[in-house]
Amino acid sequence: METVETAVVGAGAVGLAVARALALSGREVVVLEALETFGTETSSRNSEVIHAGIYYPAGSLKARLCVAGKRMLYDYCRDRGVAFERLGKLIVATDEAERAVLARLHARAAGNGVDDLARLDRDEVRAREPELDVSGALFSPSTGIVDSHGLMLALLGDAEAAGAMLAVHAPVGAGEARDAGIVLRVGGAAPTALLARETVNAAGLGAPSLAGTIRGLDPSRVPERAMAKGSYHTLAGPSPFSTLIYPVPVEAGLGIHATLDLAGRCRFGPDVEWVDAIDYGVDPARAEAFYGAVRRYWPALPDGALRPGYAGIRPKLRRPGGAATDFVIEGPADHGAPGLVNLFGIESPGLTAALAIAELVRAKLDGRAAG
Ligand SMILES: Cc1cc2nc3c(=O)[nH]c(=O)nc-3n(C[C@H](O)[C@H](O)[C@H](O)COP(=O)(O)OP(=O)(O)OC[C@H]3O[C@@H](n4cnc5c(N)ncnc54)[C@H](O)[C@@H]3O)c2cc1C
Repeated sequence: METVETAVVGAGAVGLAVARALALSGREVVVLEALETFGTETSSRNSEVIHAGIYYPAGSLKARLCVAGKRMLYDYCRDRGVAFERLGKLIVATDEAERAVLARLHARAAGNGVDDLARLDRDEVRAREPELDVSGALFSPSTGIVDSHGLMLALLGDAEAAGAMLAVHAPVGAGEARDAGIVLRVGGAAPTALLARETVNAAGLGAPSLAGTIRGLDPSRVPERAMAKGSYHTLAGPSPFSTLIYPVPVEAGLGIHATLDLAGRCRFGPDVEWVDAIDYGVDPARAEAFYGAVRRYWPALPDGALRPGYAGIRPKLRRPGGAATDFVIEGPADHGAPGLVNLFGIESPGLTAALAIAELVRAKLDGRAAG
């Protein structure tokens, strides 16, 4: 049987950031990707927003890794020439109840170490974004956008320069925990078995099912997957905004927000649709609800201006009552399987947090991080 020091399963932004960190630490790394190339799933189906770290409960992995990851990501983009823009973001309130939500978000952000938010009243918002009709907003200057494909290319380039290898068409179908590591059954055109001393399960939507196949891993450490699809609609014509515009958050998502891409085009989304199967098609009929949601903050949205864009699927974890869950990142000290780190529920802000997640994974493999 072939052996490798470290296998990373999944070549999304998180898997590639992990591969880079582990290769730079001197490990022999192979990245096993089921599809024909890297980064075609959730990592290229998102809002490409560098989040500030506002929404997440204090002390959660999402809060800590978003705030740390944001700083690392801005530095990394500058160093490696990855395109980004620090556009800033307005979280807008349209009534009294939503203004109370803004106040809670402001306090929560401060608890997470995000201390640069500013409260704006109606006129201050108008001065910044004349098309908005809202009663107040929170301005986050450290929110930005990033070229997710450019980011992944740079991460892969660094990993390869440090000796890592990307194997595509390499779906991992099963595993078995042994004292020396995990035996991975790799499918594809030339199926093979690989003994990896360390294995990082960064398979995104596929992470729970992959973990569920690993013999010797306590099944109680494998959460049940749930999927919440988010569709986007793009705006025909020039963008009415120069800042990112978010309503107050909704259950399971951040609300139908307006983001800009690096070319300045405006898109709205994602909405929330619980699904059982992966299907990235965008149903034009879903635009109906977008008009209502967007006109709450941009009343002048013209009829017929939205076009079906693209969709992504949030890798959620099921919890009774549908309560929000944190990232789950578990190493040998949590589950007992030698050399294995599982990453579950890496939904937003996973792109922002990728570099910080990679450092945590490395610490867990080195036995430096609790659990
Ligand atoms: C609608 C939406 C909007 C979002 N917006 C933002 C945002 O604005 N900012 C932000 O920070 N985050 C955002 N996110 C979250 C972010 O996109 C993800 O957290 C991040 O992309 C996750 O990366 P990943 O590498 O874990 O997963 P993925 O990108 O899904 O990569 C997993 C890879 O594993 C492969 N794989 C799966 N199973 C196997 C297997 N058995 N064997 C081998 N390979 C396998 C897949 O093919 C895939 O390439 C958003 C997510 C969604 C869905």
